[in-house]
Amino acid sequence: MIRFAAAGLLAVLVAACAGIGSAPGSVERLYVIDCGENHVKDLSRWTTAADAGKPAVFSDNCYLVKHARGWMLWDSGNPDRLAALPNGLAAPNGILTAFMKKPLAESLKEIGVAPGEIQHFAMSHSHGDHSGNANLFGASTVYMQQPEYDAVFGAEPQKYGFLASNFENLKGSKTVKLNGDYDVFGDGSVIIKSTPGHTPGHQSLFVRLPKSPPVLLSGDLCHLQANWDAMRAPSFNFDPQQSVESMKAMDAFLRRTGARLWINHDFAQSSTLPKAPLYVE
Ligand SMILES: [Zn+2]
Repeated sequence: MIRFAAAGLLAVLVAACAGIGSAPGSVERLYVIDCGENHVKDLSRWTTAADAGKPAVFSDNCYLVKHARGWMLWDSGNPDRLAALPNGLAAPNGILTAFMKKPLAESLKEIGVAPGEIQHFAMSHSHGDHSGNANLFGASTVYMQQPEYDAVFGAEPQKYGFLASNFENLKGSKTVKLNGDYDVFGDGSVIIKSTPGHTPGHQSLFVRLPKSPPVLLSGDLCHLQANWDAMRAPSFNFDPQQSVESMKAMDAFLRRTGARLWINHDFAQSSTLPKAPLYVE
C-alpha cells in the first residue's frame, strides 16, 4: 500500500516537472512594439470629474509573441499612414489626436519578420487604435469573439465605434470565432481571455514567459492603472458594468497565476517596458 502510494506520488511529481519544463519553454520571446500615442484633451472622460480639463498622453502598443511553433501578433495599433502626419490626426469628435511615429511594418522589419509570416493575429477589440493596421494581416488566422465579429461585420459597425474599412482584408481570412477563452498553441502558454464590456467581444491575452513571471495584456480592459486600482470603467464603454465584472474576474485570475497586468494605454507603466527590437523572455 505504501509502495503503491509512493509510486503514485512519484508519477505526480514527474508529471508536475514535465508541466513546469514544457509550458514555459514554448514561448520564446515577447516584443512590446510602440504602435503610436493618443493625446487626449480631457482625461475625465476616462476617469472621474476630478480630472476635468486635464490633458494626458495614452501609450498604444502592439505585442508580438515568438512561440516555438510560430508568431502571434496582438493588436495592430494606430494606422501606419499617420506616420506621415507630424501633427497627428484629430478624431472627428475632437476628444483626442492620434499619432504614429514609427510604422508597425517598419518595426516588424527591424525584428526580422514579415506580416505574411505571422500565422496568428488577434486584437483585444476593434477600435481604431487597435485595428489600425489589421489589413496587413489578412493571411493570418484571426481570433475574434463571436459578438465582436458580429459587430464588426454586421450592418452597423459604426454603432460600436468601429471603422469597417479597417477590416477589409480580414473578410476572407481564416477566422476562429470564440465564445470564451482560447488556448492558441494548445500548451497553456498563450491564452486569449474573454473580457467583454469595453466592446461586446473584448478580450485580453495571457502569455507565459520562459524566464519572467507571466503577463496579462490588458487591451482596454482598463485604460489606466488608476482605473484598475479603483475597479472603475468609463461610462462610454459598451457595457460598463460588464467591464467591472471582467476586471474582477481578471483580478482573481492574476492572483491565481501570479501574472502581471500590462496596461496598454498607461503611459507611465508602458515607459518602463523594453520596446522592440528589444524583447522580454
Ligand atoms: Zn484603445
